[in-house]
Amino acid sequence: MADERLELLRDNLAAMKRRIATACAASGRDQNEVTLVAVTKYAPLEDVRRLYELGVRDFGESRPQALWERHPQLPFDARWHMIGRFQTNKARRTLPLVSMVHSVDRWSLAETLSSLSAERDRRLPVTIQLNLTGEETKAGFAPEQFVEEFGRLLELPGLDIVGLMTMAKHEEEVERCRATFAELRQLRERLGERRALPVLSMGMSNDFDIAVQEGATHVRIGSALFAEPAT
Ligand SMILES: *Cc1c(COP(=O)(O)O)cnc(C)c1O
Repeated sequence: MADERLELLRDNLAAMKRRIATACAASGRDQNEVTLVAVTKYAPLEDVRRLYELGVRDFGESRPQALWERHPQLPFDARWHMIGRFQTNKARRTLPLVSMVHSVDRWSLAETLSSLSAERDRRLPVTIQLNLTGEETKAGFAPEQFVEEFGRLLELPGLDIVGLMTMAKHEEEVERCRATFAELRQLRERLGERRALPVLSMGMSNDFDIAVQEGATHVRIGSALFAEPAT
């Protein structure tokens, strides 16, 4: 029996990759610079397995418990990205399972992740999450606070700070997200003398084309990957 769901996911994945390629072409970038992280928080495990079968290796989850459950269900070469609110008391069990934490949104979390990683002689690749929209409900360092603490963050022995992450405001007018993404890139440039920050984790289902045009290296795509085509 044909797996219709597999065909749908194959089509959606191909469409996302085409859009990433188009956005790269529009901004003179190489599409190999962009990693599609499939955000599976709303997807059933069967769909996660189908994506793996289709060649996806980077998976994003926003809840530690979901990572604990799903990590053993996929082959070892799947890479798991922690992208959501991360309570420090969940860190010890989560860390061995992740290849990167995108959502380092506060000093106390950075410290905890560093000491747990250092215990294991590991430097954990992380991006620092910035709150550039000033929304109170949104996690992340405020930009000035981050610039002030950057030196201290770089000294944490268990962290390898590879870049920055942000979420744009959910706008009717998608083009408005561009300013947020550009701001993250400019912040990276401003800190570039102290540390190269190659990773920019930005762009979701609604706004990833623009994020790629503005320099995203990791787009975190959930709903658009699993959606049925509009009829
Ligand atoms: C859910 C989530 C995404 C994916 O969102 P979609 O709009 O479904 O693509 C990306 N990043 C974070 C941090 C998320 O929590």
